[in-house]
Amino acid sequence: MIPFNKPYLTGNEFALIEKALSKGKFSGNGYFTNKCHTFFNEYFGFKNCFLTNSATSALEMASLLCDIKEGDEVIIPSYTFVSTATPFALRGAKIIFCDSEVSSPNIDVQRIEQLITSKTKAIIVVHYAGLACDMDAIMALANRHKLFVIEDAAHSITSRYKDRFLGTSGHFAAFSFHETKNISSGQGGMLVINDHSMINRAEKVWVKGTNQLDMQRGIIPKYEWVDLGSNFYPSEITACLLFAQLQSIEFIQYKRKLIWKTYEKQLRNLEKSGKIKLTTLEDYQSNNYHIFYILCASQYERDDLISFLKKNNIMAVFHYSPLHSSPYAQGKSTETFVLPNAERYSQTLLRLPLYVELDLSQVIEITNLISTFYHS
Ligand SMILES: *Cc1c(COP(=O)(O)O)cnc(C)c1O
Repeated sequence: MIPFNKPYLTGNEFALIEKALSKGKFSGNGYFTNKCHTFFNEYFGFKNCFLTNSATSALEMASLLCDIKEGDEVIIPSYTFVSTATPFALRGAKIIFCDSEVSSPNIDVQRIEQLITSKTKAIIVVHYAGLACDMDAIMALANRHKLFVIEDAAHSITSRYKDRFLGTSGHFAAFSFHETKNISSGQGGMLVINDHSMINRAEKVWVKGTNQLDMQRGIIPKYEWVDLGSNFYPSEITACLLFAQLQSIEFIQYKRKLIWKTYEKQLRNLEKSGKIKLTTLEDYQSNNYHIFYILCASQYERDDLISFLKKNNIMAVFHYSPLHSSPYAQGKSTETFVLPNAERYSQTLLRLPLYVELDLSQVIEITNLISTFYHS
């Protein structure tokens, strides 16, 4: 069986775990957490980062820092993972769903403005498959209406918008290091903060709403409860797993690129014959090879192809169900959202296996099967 995903181990993990344990204190915010923060700072220019237990919890931090409360509205793409929405729903916000672009699953910037009301507080954008949303247009719109922009950058490590790394344009950005993402620590995430006025509070929110970090710096003799917050930071074991991956980031990305490019080359002819659609990049996008997807002509055809590949021991998978039609959203509101592009991506998008240890010969086996499917 060729699985859809297989978490990659660099081989350095066990040595680093031993080192983390031998330090005697490993509850978090220690040696390896600092090593990761420094790496992100130097490699990506993320000036203020906070490792978290997941991207979901990074978004919960952002939601607290934006003071999202009952009655506020936040705009998100419908075609996304549930974690883009729940951190804001948890604070009582009403979730306003926006459609995808015609040409990509990303939020349609042209449709955001008509959704903005006096209650709107934030726009959350998702760079689907690590391919950037048009951040200049989004930031201009947000600045005009004085809204926060939060990048759900869960897919987006190493990707750029123009010459800037994703995660550096919005007020906040959330990354995921879940085992399904390019760089992983099993569970894990990170909040990047680009709005400097938020850093002081973020340090408190990160540590259960306390000023414990100031005590550790010797500024105050004891720490106290000063804000809302939660236990957002991961243990040193998680941080050292992440650090092992970061040390291999170039190798991981090199392997994923080879696989992605091989898929593209092998499937070009099928695209030319009009049977499927492949990804095309905008000038402002770069690829981080997080997802290789094809678009089929219909849901029926896509599901048929999934079954055909499965019969041949290959796991290919669809992706999101639009959140506006989820049982939770439907139960909350009687509004009907008409979001045809989100529906279409939900019905026709198919993701092919992509992980570091996938052989190029296996990629060719998969693409040959897809050709067989379309020629029979
Ligand atoms: C994976 C993912 C998340 C959640 O990441 P966790 O680290 O598992 O919390 C959020 N948004 C998107 C778009 C994702 O793909």
